Amino acid sequence: MADLNAVIALGGTFQTYQEFESIVQLYKDETYTVWSVKRAQKLKDQYKDTLEYKFKHLVCKHHAGYEPVMDTERHHKRTSNTGCLAELYLSAERAQNKLIICTFNDTHNHPVSAELYAQYPENRRLTEARDLRANFVSSVAVARTLAQKSNKVVRRKDINKSVQA
Ligand SMILES: [Zn+2]
Repeated sequence: MADLNAVIALGGTFQTYQEFESIVQLYKDETYTVWSVKRAQKLKDQYKDTLEYKFKHLVCKHHAGYEPVMDTERHHKRTSNTGCLAELYLSAERAQNKLIICTFNDTHNHPVSAELYAQYPENRRLTEARDLRANFVSSVAVARTLAQKSNKVVRRKDINKSVQA
C-alpha cells in the first residue's frame, strides 16, 4: 500500500473508482475524518464500469453546506455544522483513463481524534458490523445482535449496507 498522504492529495490519481473508494476509506480511518458526498455525477459512457464517476465532490461532515440528516437510530437531527472547509474533488480524466483529485483541502476547523471518530453514529454502527463480520456471522445474526443491543428492530437493508461499506 502506497503512502496514503501521497495518494489522497492534490493530483493523486486512481485507475478505478473502486481503488479510490478503498483508499479513501483507509484515509478516513487513519485521519479520523468523516466525509459526505456534496455532489456527484455518474459516467454513462464506456468508462462507467471503471472510473464510474464523472466527478465526485466530498466535503467534511462539518461542512457549512451539509444538511443535517435524521439519525435513524435516535430520531433526532444531528447538528454538527462548524462550517469546515475541508473538501476533496475527484474528477474523471477520460483522456488519461484515470480519476484525479483536482481540489484537496484537508484543514479541518474542528477537533479530530480517534475518540471523536469512534463516536460518530455511522462509525459506531459500521464498527459493530465489521467486528461481527470478522467472526463470520451471517447478516441475520448481525441484525439480531444489533437489535438486542439497541432494543430496536434493525432493518435487514441497513445491515447489508453496513456490511458492504
Ligand atoms: Zn472538517
